[in-house]
Amino acid sequence: MVNEDGLTVQQKDIFDKITKNDAGGLKILLSQLSGTVDFVDENGMTPLQHACYKGNLESVQMLLDQGADANSSKHGMNYTALHFGALSGNTNICLLLLLAGANSSALNSVSRTPAQMGAFVGNHAAVATINNFIPKQEIEYYTKLQGQQTEPYLPIVLLDSFHRFVIESNIHPVRIALNLQKFGAFSDHLKELKKVLELMAEREMQRSNEVNEIMAFKYHYLGWIVNEIHKCRDHFQLRNKEAGVDSKSVDYVELFAKRVLKENKQGFLEYVESTIRDCVREFPFRECTIFRQVVSQLANKDCTSALDVVRAAINGQRGFVEDITSCSTCGEEGPDKKCSKCKQVQYCDRECQRLHWFMHKKTCARPMPSAGGSGSNGANVKKDIDTTEISEQLQNMVAG
Ligand SMILES: [Zn+2]
Ligand SMILES: [Zn+2]
Repeated sequence: MVNEDGLTVQQKDIFDKITKNDAGGLKILLSQLSGTVDFVDENGMTPLQHACYKGNLESVQMLLDQGADANSSKHGMNYTALHFGALSGNTNICLLLLLAGANSSALNSVSRTPAQMGAFVGNHAAVATINNFIPKQEIEYYTKLQGQQTEPYLPIVLLDSFHRFVIESNIHPVRIALNLQKFGAFSDHLKELKKVLELMAEREMQRSNEVNEIMAFKYHYLGWIVNEIHKCRDHFQLRNKEAGVDSKSVDYVELFAKRVLKENKQGFLEYVESTIRDCVREFPFRECTIFRQVVSQLANKDCTSALDVVRAAINGQRGFVEDITSCSTCGEEGPDKKCSKCKQVQYCDRECQRLHWFMHKKTCARPMPSAGGSGSNGANVKKDIDTTEISEQLQNMVAG
């Protein structure tokens, strides 16, 4: 049975469930659908495009699982699913689409890419997700034997996790260490990782069609930080060996986080500042714009943080965006939790709080004078993490 707009009742129902964010209802309808899921409404929009526009991750996932085309372009103004995803601002939706092969350079009828549309409405995190993405095939090369090699640069088992690692947009050193841990069995391969990242930086600079200096710089930076983590771990293992202590299961994330987050008396992160300046100094492609731009910003006497300079160079200037909070440990934006005692610092989760506690405990008990008047906004209340429990935990660890 087909209606006057050319849609069957079932197809109409599918659009209806997506519009109402009814993922459960959508699931049932999709399981009964026999034909393609890429039918279009009167505006040429597919169900996937609708789900992206609504910002409904669950629906997007279901439709992609059902084989929805991430690059359908029957929309009247040539918007693709990724254009809608960028407009919704949902970074996970953008990531799913990219992983499903969405073309990030598709142009709509006003010649804008998905990232440009996202930037236009201020969805900077979605823009960063799109701009930091590369297809997995681009790094597959390094898992294959080249020339006289007897071993590839990157073990094939690390391909997926390495891919997820390089496309992350948060370049805070602690986040990089956490990602190494999160995405897989990297700890025995830090050397190889650094090498591959160096090769990737070179390749970006040698592209005949379109040189991407920003990505070249990012890969150089990632390689640098990976190497710092490697050095930090080796140093600790050596020290333990000399002391006759077994250190097979070294928590390199914690070691490295301590090095990164240790503030001097002025509350300044000396190690991060100096290692990032060293990293910039060692960037091998000195004639390019990004290098000159970063160097001149670092030389500016008003420059307070090399990390901010590098972050802006890779992910763009944010301008004056108010109310952007970030995790005190890893710099992730919009963290979910805050310290229950002082309510002054925010964290992604317990792990981030745990890693920062050795510094934060010094100021936690002394709440800073409040700017006043906040806290009544129900939508903004963050879940607290109980510091007492964590400090007890840490004390027990030391005692035990
Ligand atoms: Zn965090
Ligand atoms: Zn606190």
